[in-house]
Amino acid sequence: MQKRLLAKMPVAELDPQHKGLFEQTAPYVRFIAHGRTVEHEGEKILLLHFFPCRQTGEDDAKAAFRTFIGKTDYITQELTCQGVKWKTGALENIIPWEWQSAKGFVSAVILADGESVEACRRVVGNALPPLEALRDHQRKIITARLEAKHQVIKDRIDAVMNQFPDLPDDFEEWLTLEAFGHHRFLLYRNDPKKKEQAILCNTCLREFEHTKPRHNQAHTCPHCGRRAVFKSVRKAQRTLRNWIQTAVLLPWPGGFCVRYFNVCRDDCKLLETRKVSYSSSEEYREVYVEDKCEMYNYGKFLSSSTNRWCDNTQQICFTKAVVYCRNLPQVTAGTPFCYSGLKEYAGRENGAETRLSSYLYRYPKMPYLEYLSKLRLYRIVYELIENQDNKKVLNERGKNAAELLLVPKQHIRLLQEINPSLSDLEILQKVLAAKVQLTASMFWRVRTVYQYDADGILLATKYASMQRIENYLEKRRGDDKEYSHTVRLWADYVGFCEKLGYDLQNDFVLFPRHLKKAHDVAMRRSEALDKAGRVKRLGEMSKGMTAIFEQMKVQYGFTQGVFVMRVPASLTDIVAEGHKLRHCVGQYAEKVADGKTTILFLRQADKPKEPYFTVEIRGGKVVQCRGNKNCAAPPEVKTFLAAWEEKCLRRAAA
Ligand SMILES: [Zn+2]
Repeated sequence: MQKRLLAKMPVAELDPQHKGLFEQTAPYVRFIAHGRTVEHEGEKILLLHFFPCRQTGEDDAKAAFRTFIGKTDYITQELTCQGVKWKTGALENIIPWEWQSAKGFVSAVILADGESVEACRRVVGNALPPLEALRDHQRKIITARLEAKHQVIKDRIDAVMNQFPDLPDDFEEWLTLEAFGHHRFLLYRNDPKKKEQAILCNTCLREFEHTKPRHNQAHTCPHCGRRAVFKSVRKAQRTLRNWIQTAVLLPWPGGFCVRYFNVCRDDCKLLETRKVSYSSSEEYREVYVEDKCEMYNYGKFLSSSTNRWCDNTQQICFTKAVVYCRNLPQVTAGTPFCYSGLKEYAGRENGAETRLSSYLYRYPKMPYLEYLSKLRLYRIVYELIENQDNKKVLNERGKNAAELLLVPKQHIRLLQEINPSLSDLEILQKVLAAKVQLTASMFWRVRTVYQYDADGILLATKYASMQRIENYLEKRRGDDKEYSHTVRLWADYVGFCEKLGYDLQNDFVLFPRHLKKAHDVAMRRSEALDKAGRVKRLGEMSKGMTAIFEQMKVQYGFTQGVFVMRVPASLTDIVAEGHKLRHCVGQYAEKVADGKTTILFLRQADKPKEPYFTVEIRGGKVVQCRGNKNCAAPPEVKTFLAAWEEKCLRRAAA
């Protein structure tokens, strides 16, 4: 409708003879609607003026607003304001339309006269009472408008969907041989009368005989040489039906597209049919052109109840999928992902899942994913694409693998053998820089047993064999309830001795009989040694950290019950905390400045300035909590700490 023309139409006044209607119909009626047919752009439309029921004495001859209603459109003009103002809502949403009374619904609007009724009927027909018909008419127009709007969206989406290429011819073969690599079975129907059982490999679909196979036992298929698991069909029914998510990259003008399928493989009847049965549903699609990604998902379209392809409103599809890698070089050729290392990472193992969207999303920001994938350092790649901060463990500007990983070139091979996570790498960097002789198996053993103290223990192998260190620590296991505490105490002690220039080759120094005492003495001496210079240096370093401490306050600050978690205001606060509680946290101040660890103060809520317990966090976990003279935390402190971890650490990680 042309609002400019509508606004020019004369405004009607209430005929004095209609005023009586208000009294006759009180108390429900709020508006008298005066209707006439008018011409607008060659169409006969309905013009309704609405006169509100006013208090006596007021001027009730003036209309409050008027509505123009045609076959396919309507609009309402306000008349009580200055200038011209339009409302696009339906009448039932603009004014009270009806009331619920004891007799059912009563209209809040009445038509002024027979001519008004006629004018309504001309547009909305005779089927219903005119006001009801009017409301339905507006509802139909709203629905039609929405449908037209949706149709535009649907047409745009369908035009894209129709362009998606078909799956590669060997897709099903790939499913059988590669994608279901975590579901390889050697199927048999246990025949108790026979010693030799007929076995069917679900991957190569060939048969062999085996003496007394055991359900769930691993075995190698003699035909295809793949590792698989014996499954007695009778016992295994439920585990023979498996779902995986798969992703296939396919060519697209100017880039490539991805189709995600949820595939179910059912081996329950495989022994009879000898044919693998698949069923699948397609759930996501993506189109990558240059640096843009458009996402679609199959589901409910906007407010409708029908399933179809829709715009994916989530920013990124986090689905993990087994990626079809056979065509990757061809499909990504000429795109920014040509050298992304995706083929190496996604194809690292049959059946391995990859967060494909995350990989493609992060690769442009982390081009070194290519190096890492090609070096088969898959744990680090995994952590990086799962959005873990690399905490400066990597030198992102490094021009080759050694520079990137901050490890001497000759050790890259060892790293490949270890396949470290980022926190493993951090330990390795320190240990390899100290020229410790290391093997992959030794690393994993120490890392598993000593966890966050692995670096200290490995570094100490410069002075004594691993065996002797372990013997020594093992003997002191009883000194403290927690073995990890003893280990930490000794590792710290060795660090102090190094700083003090003690001869650690001497067993009396390296393995003190009274570890706790020796630790405390060495700590005090070490502190005294660098006290003067250090306090000044830490003061300087703290200046640059104000913003970091402020941010930590928001992230870690927490009060519950009688305890409160506080953030140090400076690095010298950390040193003071150590002096007061007589433990060695003061030695951690530089590590805090380097961002290698985080120190927090757990205090009693009524004495927030008095040191109570000190907490260290590394890798998103509490690694120690120590009180006066290194004492362990009592249960109530541990309870508080658990609540705090849940609230502040998990939240920070998310
Ligand atoms: Zn086989």
